[in-house]
Amino acid sequence: MRLLITGAPGAGKGTLAGAVADHYSIPAISTGNMFRAAAASGSELGRQVGAIMASGGLVPDDVTDAVVAARLAEPDAAAGWLLDGYPRTLAQVKALDDLLAGRSESLDLVIVLDVPRDVMVARLVHRASIEGRADDTVETIRHRMEVYAASTAPILDAYAARDLVLTVDGDGTPDEVRERLLAALIARLGH
Ligand code: ADP
Repeated sequence: MRLLITGAPGAGKGTLAGAVADHYSIPAISTGNMFRAAAASGSELGRQVGAIMASGGLVPDDVTDAVVAARLAEPDAAAGWLLDGYPRTLAQVKALDDLLAGRSESLDLVIVLDVPRDVMVARLVHRASIEGRADDTVETIRHRMEVYAASTAPILDAYAARDLVLTVDGDGTPDEVRERLLAALIARLGH
């Protein structure tokens, strides 16, 4: 099973990615988590991406594509995966297409979490008070929403044209949304 999960910041990608990955026994691979880990470790990659992430901008495509290619080459990703937060630009869509073509693999589904904007902002503001993520400030949240609308929303049209998109209502408690999403996945994919 090869899946993507996408949605604007605060849509709940990270929380649901774990549930979907558990259901299909595949690794959940989050570019945001990989970049945050790199920034925390102070590695060369971390130095490159730390300031970009803190501003709410996107890490350059070539850097991001290379991180994903390396991660998908690891043994646990051989039989399937769920990518959380990648691709985020049309150039990344192309890079992933090329990578998969080289492996004679294809995508099964793109999960899109649809959540009202005011709900997403409220969640991010709440998360900021708990986790203190560097990019969860009011200003940065606004910027990340704009980046999503400008750069990431267009990738959904590309995947919709291939009939790969499953849109799920992400408004509700974590339990409600998880049950709704798993039911929709099972209905669409048969298991
Ligand atoms: P959110 O969806 O809440 O913004 P993520 O954890 O998915 O959170 O991403 C956090 C940050 O990591 C992004 O704002 C961006 O700077 C960087 N990032 C994550 N994935 C990508 C990607 N595919 N391309 C470029 N930058 C990315």
